[in-house]
Amino acid sequence: MIPYGKQQITEQDIAAVVSTLQSDYLTQGPAVAEFEQNFARYVGSRYAVAVSNGTAALHLAVMALGLEAGGRIITTPITFAASANCARYVGGELAFADINPDTLTLDLRRVRFLLESFPKGTYKGIVPVDFAGYPVDMEAFRALADEFGVFLLEDACHAPGGYFTDSKEQKQTCGNGLADAAIFSFHPVKHIACGEGGMITTNRSDVYEKLLLLRTHGITKNPAQMQRNEGGWYQEMITLGYNYRMPDILAALGNAQLQRADENLARRQIIAQRYIAAFKDLPIEYTHVPEDIQHAYHLFVIQTDQRKALYDYLHQQQIYVQVHYVPCHLHPYYRQQGWREGDYRHAEYYYSRCLSLPMYHALTDSEQDYVIEKVRVFFSGQTPKSS
Ligand SMILES: *Cc1c(COP(=O)(O)O)cnc(C)c1O
Repeated sequence: MIPYGKQQITEQDIAAVVSTLQSDYLTQGPAVAEFEQNFARYVGSRYAVAVSNGTAALHLAVMALGLEAGGRIITTPITFAASANCARYVGGELAFADINPDTLTLDLRRVRFLLESFPKGTYKGIVPVDFAGYPVDMEAFRALADEFGVFLLEDACHAPGGYFTDSKEQKQTCGNGLADAAIFSFHPVKHIACGEGGMITTNRSDVYEKLLLLRTHGITKNPAQMQRNEGGWYQEMITLGYNYRMPDILAALGNAQLQRADENLARRQIIAQRYIAAFKDLPIEYTHVPEDIQHAYHLFVIQTDQRKALYDYLHQQQIYVQVHYVPCHLHPYYRQQGWREGDYRHAEYYYSRCLSLPMYHALTDSEQDYVIEKVRVFFSGQTPKSS
């Protein structure tokens, strides 16, 4: 059985968890701060705040960026529903903008069109997603966000370690602070597996301070933030927050996994190149990845007119390929709010043809060869792609 994605747990990971289990802290101890510091260093951001999962990270990020009831964000329909849902948690509203079919990410021109077509203040923020691991051009989105005075929240769940090259030839790593905040997930199918876990990165100290408060019930012991101080026990709840903390046990696991992040990313690149080389003559399409971009390959997405038949055939062969994603606006929850088929042409066409092949750093060559062989068998006898 070969899934589309899964975690890898090493002896080193197990040892890190065991040592935390034997320590004084299962939560709110030193492992979380250590993971945060190392993660911030890895992506190149000033601050990192660990939370209980990627969805909690989105929720806290939109709150810290000032989204309130009635406020509207713009995101892509091709993403995990949580990227959109975060607006709804605070009573906010959504707009989707179609994808650019070349990158499968939010089309900046469509976002600009929305921002220009409605009065200033209609939109509060933009939430681009580094879909499949393809890094969004955050320099261009930054300029757009500044022009219209909206916040920029990067959903970088698919792209730890990915980067694009900016107009000054500088590598810009996903989540490095170009956006006002970026979020990551440590669900087992993502690059770094904690079981459950998430991270928010930012370069803004005001956002960082708000995130710390919101993560722990809005409670502070910082004298500078309190209205009074009645003694050593005293604390104040100064805003409505949550318990979205990450336990130390999971932070230790994440931190151990982070040590191998570069090596694992390199392995994903090799797997991608092997697929591309093996399928050259087949009627399959991929996203073209420019030389100056590092695709993080959370997913390896192919597009074919025979998606359903290929999906069924590979499942019969115990290869559990998946479809990412059912466009957000077509889920019943969003249909009830007025969206329907035909709203986002590129997203819907992509959805009708996409399939995610197995892609995870623990995938062995022989497992991948099996996948390649079965895909080739499926297409055998069909006319090769003309070039
Ligand atoms: C996984 C994922 C999330 C949510 O993360 P969880 O940790 O599962 O809550 C959000 N956005 C995207 C794009 C994701 O892939």
